[in-house]
Amino acid sequence: MGGIAHSTITFQGHFARDFQELAIPWRAEEAPDPQLLVLNEALAAELGLDPDFLRSPDGVRFLIGNDVPPEATPVAQAYAGHQFGWYSPRLGDGRALLLGEVTHADGRLRDIHLKGSGRTPFARNGDGQAVVGPMLREYILSESMHALNIPTTRSLAVVATGSSVQREALLPGAVLTRVASSHLRVGSFQYARNTNNLDLLRRLADHAIERHHPSAAGESNRYLALLKGVIAVQARLVAQWMLVGFVHGVMNTDNMTISGETIDYGPCAFMEGFDPGAVYSSIDETGRYAYRNQPLVAEWNLARFAESLAVLIHEDQDQAVDLAVQALQGFREQYSAAWFAGMKAKLGLGSGHDDEASALVDELLQLVQEARADYTSFLRNLGKAARGDAEPARRMVLDLAAFDAWLERWRALEPDAAAMDQVNPIYIPRNHLVEEALAAATQGDTGPAERLLEAVATPYSERPGLERYAEPAPDSFGPYRTFCGT
Ligand code: AMP
Ligand code: MG
Repeated sequence: MGGIAHSTITFQGHFARDFQELAIPWRAEEAPDPQLLVLNEALAAELGLDPDFLRSPDGVRFLIGNDVPPEATPVAQAYAGHQFGWYSPRLGDGRALLLGEVTHADGRLRDIHLKGSGRTPFARNGDGQAVVGPMLREYILSESMHALNIPTTRSLAVVATGSSVQREALLPGAVLTRVASSHLRVGSFQYARNTNNLDLLRRLADHAIERHHPSAAGESNRYLALLKGVIAVQARLVAQWMLVGFVHGVMNTDNMTISGETIDYGPCAFMEGFDPGAVYSSIDETGRYAYRNQPLVAEWNLARFAESLAVLIHEDQDQAVDLAVQALQGFREQYSAAWFAGMKAKLGLGSGHDDEASALVDELLQLVQEARADYTSFLRNLGKAARGDAEPARRMVLDLAAFDAWLERWRALEPDAAAMDQVNPIYIPRNHLVEEALAAATQGDTGPAERLLEAVATPYSERPGLERYAEPAPDSFGPYRTFCGT
């Protein structure tokens, strides 16, 4: 069954075939009554998948790995990882599967991956399941990040399985169909290094170079170049998170990609009132992954990546360490440059006047922090101030005299209001709206999720009727806590 439609979908099994040491062949659990909740038609088209097929009963079974083409070779991937600083030598896909790779319209490969597809040999004490709320949350957050031009895994679909899953209550089970440039993580390299199989480690590094950092192949020290390539994409990525106020929440080394895409949307959140110490995850008791710590943690994780690669970088380990340390020193510089360039763009400032721009950025964030002003709407309102109407931004700060003096100096640099509106979003996935959408979908109503997705899919252009999507949470929403995506 489904044979005709399948014939149009070609899964490659590169990872499954080439990395048998890191891949356990496995099958997705059979869902009793699969129902499609959301489908990303635009992404389907980019992948050459027919949305009408995906909406059909066979297509829905395909999306959750219950009806895959005969040549497909689904696998659970092995990886290790530092979780909150503690090393676990064997994590792996406990409830996820890589179905295989497909070719995107851009000519490059994408992983098609399932989350919530049943227990695997890596499941430990987990039940292998996922539920509607957290899977829809990943869908909304990842698609919002994509619309904000931030590298991220994508979401193709969420399918309710028809089974009930025991969490704090019995909740509807679901599978997320995730699309990524790859699922290679820092933890994949930690795992490969730990096997002491240097041939495996080298092949994995070569695969990562070919897939994500092809220019490294031409360098005299290609593995050092790989390290530098990953440092560069992560420095840019974390700078972009900081610029939009995104708090990932669980930056363990198994949740950091080699491609530079954001991955694993668990207890993440967009910050509202500006607070460098913002932490939302209920399990992050010490604030290890607080907003302001994200660049430091990224650098720490990259040091773990460097350790895993060191044997390939130089046969003399002292020299390998020297080279790796030098490369790691590039992180701060690249992060700071990306962040500052992004902040300047948010303030509508062009090139030049860097000293004054730097002072203006610091002073503005001070004013915003002091007032705990809503970060997103404040910056959007600043665009209005560039057009001459300072009141909306002015209403959000406490120290009016300081802000007026700031405005005068800023206006002297002739900020470009139109350019500001291209980089300061008006619609982000506000926490209270995400929660509202998840609660409704858990009850069977995906309407609020669809409307929220529509708003955040076009984040920079203001549309009438979407006013509530631009507003911060009402006070009654209270302090926001997030839970690890289960
Ligand atoms: P995460 O917090 O999603 O990055 O997951 C960390 C590790 O826990 C990974 O190895 C997951 O596969 C595993 N895991 C998380 N939830 C479950 C579950 N319900 N069943 C089995 N494994 C899980
Ligand atoms: Mg993970």
